[in-house]
Amino acid sequence: MKSIRVLILMALTAGLLSGCNSKQAQMKKELVDFIKKHDSVLIPLSKEANLASWNAAISGSDSDYQKSQALQLKIVELFANKESLSKLEEIKVSGLINDTMLARQLDILYRQFLMAKADTMKLNAMVRLSTEIEKKYSNFRTTYKGKTLSDNEVENILRTSKNVNEQKEVWMEQKKIGNIVAEDIKKLVKMRNEVATQMGFRNYQEMSLILSEQDPKEITKIFDELDSLTTKSFADVKSNIDDYFVKYYGLKNKEELMPWNYQNRFFQQAPKIYDVDLDVYYKDKNLESLTAAYYAGIGLPIDAMLKNSDLYEKPGKNQHAFCTDIDNKGDVRVLCNIQPNSYWMNTMLHEFGHAVYDENIDTALPFIMREPAHTFTTEAIAMIFGRFSSNPQWLKDMVGISEEDKMKISENCFKTLRLEQLVFSRWAQVMYRFEKGMYADPDQDLNKLWWDLAEKYQLLKRPEGRNEPDWATKIHIALYPCYYHNYLLGELLASQLYYHIVGTIIKSDDYKFQSFAGKPEVGLYLKTMVFAPGNKYYWNDMIEKATGEKLTAKYYAKQFVE
Ligand SMILES: [Zn+2]
Repeated sequence: MKSIRVLILMALTAGLLSGCNSKQAQMKKELVDFIKKHDSVLIPLSKEANLASWNAAISGSDSDYQKSQALQLKIVELFANKESLSKLEEIKVSGLINDTMLARQLDILYRQFLMAKADTMKLNAMVRLSTEIEKKYSNFRTTYKGKTLSDNEVENILRTSKNVNEQKEVWMEQKKIGNIVAEDIKKLVKMRNEVATQMGFRNYQEMSLILSEQDPKEITKIFDELDSLTTKSFADVKSNIDDYFVKYYGLKNKEELMPWNYQNRFFQQAPKIYDVDLDVYYKDKNLESLTAAYYAGIGLPIDAMLKNSDLYEKPGKNQHAFCTDIDNKGDVRVLCNIQPNSYWMNTMLHEFGHAVYDENIDTALPFIMREPAHTFTTEAIAMIFGRFSSNPQWLKDMVGISEEDKMKISENCFKTLRLEQLVFSRWAQVMYRFEKGMYADPDQDLNKLWWDLAEKYQLLKRPEGRNEPDWATKIHIALYPCYYHNYLLGELLASQLYYHIVGTIIKSDDYKFQSFAGKPEVGLYLKTMVFAPGNKYYWNDMIEKATGEKLTAKYYAKQFVE
């Protein structure tokens, strides 16, 4: 026989449970209703906005750009709705959503709506200041020998000049943009921090990462891992670069080499020190058909997307390249400006990498899950394929060069790719650590922090006595904050997936001479394990399911360091 106390307790618990159950059902219903209502606005609006921005990019006309901007603002407004946020917060705080699909959607929605908490006046002030800064960057021209130069022209001189005095002067003149924008950027950084702390985050950098589902500690750990894996190899290639440049510029010794001698403003790209010209292989080729044939061969046909794409130069058209998913239901388009050279081969393979990802996301998923797991996971896919444009095996299989030519160029191709990766990875360290340091303490000596990092990670020599805001000359720091690290994470994942495909899917132990050409099992694997799930899983869970491991720098190091 049970005691009275136990009976009362049982009754109470049962009562609680049934109360709990009805509360649970109610929360579930409220969430389902919320999603339904949200979708009914978002789905048509985002399609309209994507189409408008696509049309604007092609026509370049003011009225198309105005239409596109107005629709973008409507989307911003939708997510700035404070009532929506408090509804989501209420559901989230209840802790009663235990259906995994719904819980995931709640999590995604909550992060998307969280900025609605921020002070609208402050957000508007930030947009205004950003626009001011953007104008200053675009109006700035470097003055050299009485002429004004665009940034492209500056890059061109740094890349091609053998005159170190000319390089120095152009570099110094270009850096003058730093002082024009530095104070505004510091102000903007502090405003961003205020918004972040008001919302309960330590600073803006941490908030950005957390809202994009990245744990700041985890990201720093990956950057530390990559740092220790690349330190020695980078020092070796840097020493080769320096040897090469001492001869190239006719200097006495390496000590004379300065930051302006590395062929671009930031030493973010590999200087051209190995002799290999891939453009000759592409100059009489049809890049569109090569791309179509390649993707068809790996079981990811792109014909339907090619029809909707816009691939050649036109007056007024956007001069860059991008991929856009118009409706998250199969209408995926690519914008390019194809010229028959290796740069555009890389770009076509890259953009259609994004495209096959988008196109193969399971359309049975709820609308907000029909996105790549993270921006860097779609970057990774684009990078795997883009890298093939300079791969000797790919050139043999797809472009038809001879085995003899393949072997002749292979050493310099691989050396170039390795150099590109090592140089970029060290530069990305500077960017990541600078932003982390700046948002943690914007009042510190940022001029010094920038050069301390460039010396440590890029092994550059600080110009003697230099105390200028050179960090402010990198536009990403002002206008695309706390995003740069994703480029490097994309490279790491590209290597991890590449190793998995070679070893496990096509079962080869040759990690060098691979093109995946004519291997539909590669497409099938990517479709099933990477593309189809969309963002159903947290990105690191998706990576673990797809490769057996969480994101790691190990394979990047295997491919480019060892
Ligand atoms: Zn991309």
